[in-house]
Amino acid sequence: MICLTEIKLIDDDGLRLDGRKPDELRPIKIEAGVLDNADGSAYVEWGNNKIIAAVYGPREVQPKYLQDTAKAIVQVSYNMAAFAGDDRIRPGPNRRATEISKITAEALERVILTGQYPRSSIDVYIEVLEADAGTRCAGLTAASVAVADAGIPMIDLVPSVAAGKADGQLVLDVGKLEDNKGQADLPLAYVPRTGEIVLLQMDGHFTRKELEMAMKMAIDACKEIHVIQQDALKRKYTPQSSVNTNEQEAEQ
Ligand code: UDP
Repeated sequence: MICLTEIKLIDDDGLRLDGRKPDELRPIKIEAGVLDNADGSAYVEWGNNKIIAAVYGPREVQPKYLQDTAKAIVQVSYNMAAFAGDDRIRPGPNRRATEISKITAEALERVILTGQYPRSSIDVYIEVLEADAGTRCAGLTAASVAVADAGIPMIDLVPSVAAGKADGQLVLDVGKLEDNKGQADLPLAYVPRTGEIVLLQMDGHFTRKELEMAMKMAIDACKEIHVIQQDALKRKYTPQSSVNTNEQEAEQ
């Protein structure tokens, strides 16, 4: 049996358990528009996380008493599939899913131009198919691409990532064992166009200096993730002929 207390999260060469440098992201792939039946959708593979986001709306608010005469409401449902983790996850709502749904909706509300759609609802579904830490950040990252894919006007996309502390050292994009055994976890979401932080949570302990450095690390990484999000939308919305032309030009 592996004794978790003996695990070193950072080895003598300064590398993490999966071979990453402290400030290195896991590989991220995003595809926009993967579902025919939703108004917008996106699929993200982020390390071992596999997450799909679907958007419906703007549409009539259900239940009706939630209607806002001044703007659209954003309703998010985050769900982890029963088979998403090492152990079977009990299906249905729980406190964690309710919390993640709420913070994701609050982050999306900051960028969606909700004032353009009074009395309506924008419904976002995030389904985690495989989970390996960082699913709230990866889910929000995918959800904002799905909102854009639905053609809903937004100020910007919302890239998100967690920074943390493992073996006393700051690390970017916290992995599962780092989440379990590390000293701190700081999920953050950032709007590149406005510089606004629209999600910030913290679990564990940082010194003030570490907190500032962890936030900077996460913000810098959000700028990288933003490019991956934009590329996903460009791949879907750039006509194939111009993609081919660009590729041919690159080959010459
Ligand atoms: N996790 C799990 N079952 C649960 C909750 C969490 O297997 O019921 C795992 C999953 O891999 C998740 C990780 O623990 O990604 C960290 O969960 P946390 O609540 O910190 O949220 P996340 O990092 O996914 O945003």
